[in-house]
Amino acid sequence: MTGDQVHLAALLNHGHWRLNAACFGGRLALPNWHLADELVAETGAQCDGGWWPDDREIRLRKDLLADLSALAGVMLHEMVHQYVWEVARRPEDGHGLLFTTVATVAGRPVGIAPPLPRHVEVWPAVTRHQEV
Ligand SMILES: [Zn+2]
Repeated sequence: MTGDQVHLAALLNHGHWRLNAACFGGRLALPNWHLADELVAETGAQCDGGWWPDDREIRLRKDLLADLSALAGVMLHEMVHQYVWEVARRPEDGHGLLFTTVATVAGRPVGIAPPLPRHVEVWPAVTRHQEV
């Protein structure tokens, strides 16, 4: 790892630690990180982040580093997936009722509104844009 990569991992670990303490009662273990120029979901759509449970990895688009608020939002979204997989052990839920419930509770301490029913997969970005 280069010096920049070490600092970046420390930044991401710190962000995860803060959100984990504030929003998940500290119940999540640190994941691995992967930053990519582009991310493609299983649907073929471009996405900002993802939770890869087999690697225990949160993947993030590199350009999120230019907008720390957006980075935190995507990180929180992926941490909800991590919670659903590793704490609730309900991987089949996807963006279902459990995801929505956990996202609603997790967003409250950091002032993020609950997911909108048709935009759960992009929460909290749509919520943030609608509040502007
Ligand atoms: Zn998602």
